[in-house]
Amino acid sequence: MNPPLFPNPLVSGTYRIDCAGAIDAASEPVALAPASILLAVAPAGTRILAADSPGLIDHHPAARTAKLVSLPDHLVTPAFVNAHTHLDLTHIGPQPRSGFASFVDLIRSRRLVEPGEIRASVLLGARLSRAGGVAAVGDIAGAVRGSASIEPFLALRDSGLAGVSFLEFFGMGRSIPRALARADEVADAALALPASRVRLGLQPHAPYSVAPDGYRHAIARAERDRLPLATHLAESLEERAFIAHAKGPQRSLLEALGLWDDSLLAEFGLGNTPVEHLARVLRGRSSPILLVHLNDLSDADVALLTELNTHAPIHVAYCPRSSEFFGAPEEFGPHRYRELLAAGINVCLGTDSIVNLPEAQAAGDSARISPLDDARLLWKRDRGDPSLLLEMLTVRGACALGLESSRFTLTSGAEIEGLCALRLPETDGKISNISGELLSQVLASECAPDRLI
Ligand SMILES: [Zn+2]
Repeated sequence: MNPPLFPNPLVSGTYRIDCAGAIDAASEPVALAPASILLAVAPAGTRILAADSPGLIDHHPAARTAKLVSLPDHLVTPAFVNAHTHLDLTHIGPQPRSGFASFVDLIRSRRLVEPGEIRASVLLGARLSRAGGVAAVGDIAGAVRGSASIEPFLALRDSGLAGVSFLEFFGMGRSIPRALARADEVADAALALPASRVRLGLQPHAPYSVAPDGYRHAIARAERDRLPLATHLAESLEERAFIAHAKGPQRSLLEALGLWDDSLLAEFGLGNTPVEHLARVLRGRSSPILLVHLNDLSDADVALLTELNTHAPIHVAYCPRSSEFFGAPEEFGPHRYRELLAAGINVCLGTDSIVNLPEAQAAGDSARISPLDDARLLWKRDRGDPSLLLEMLTVRGACALGLESSRFTLTSGAEIEGLCALRLPETDGKISNISGELLSQVLASECAPDRLI
């Protein structure tokens, strides 16, 4: 773990950060090299007083008394949003690459049951998220023994992270009434608690584990209580086989659990793609939904998502390292996130669980759960546009989770969730005076970020 760059513990007051550069993805972006950022830190939150070139900040009235933090080898950005993760699986740690069906078995066998252990796993995940420069998450509160659980939501509230805890549930065949009643009961208990920086959301797990009626119920509840909504969608070949043909490992699993009956053939095995299958329930909604993965998209699916986005916002959490872990590019071809973006759909980044992250990034001294490493993959693999990747790491993720985008900018006057300091790789001693170049250097490197606040 790197030594803290900022006074620790952080004391209220005014700080001036002098750094090699500063960049954000606000609508009126900050892009400075070198840069100075003036911050007012208080127990209630942190506010950007000004972000400008050092010479201009010298004239700011607050500059004279501000405590100086000097970071000549760092680029400063807003803290990141990880739009999709499973912090309650952190105890499992990174695992070798595997097929989707054996992965489902692994998760089912290693999922924790004891509330204290679940809490410890979420809090460990929150620590690794902070180590990854993350301030807000879309975290999945995993179902325990197939039943919705409040524990991950409670733990995330105490973790210091902001965001949404999506209450996950399963429901197929005869299990649906009990599963929905249990999910409603847990949602009621969660909503009875005082408001915090973590909101409750709902997550019907996936179209192969939740029947359309379960989705309809979740959408109605989300609209009634204004809750964020998310689901896994179009992730694997196994999902495609089940939705289109009612066959494959998902069918076998439902049969083994005693949840399959032939009445399900009215909705599964109709030759639909996962997106076509879910479109029937998504078309009538009036609230946004966050669709996670979308590895398996046909041309018609992209057109359908574009149409659904005109009814109410579709947000997409793309998890590049997770897709690679499961071999999605080999099975489905390149991910179509750039086409979705071009069609006006908001796409952001998620890490998925630690289980599918490389050991080099998620274990050892620089262990972290960070979408920065997913952005790095896109930068290296697709020559992604650095400023778009920064958007996907910050304001686009905030938008997908229903968070205030300005909290993930360097805009003067903005209350922020936090800042990241990204160490610049060793160069020949010359630091660029173009902030976009510094961002490219950071994306090309492997260094763990530092959360400053
Ligand atoms: Zn997931």
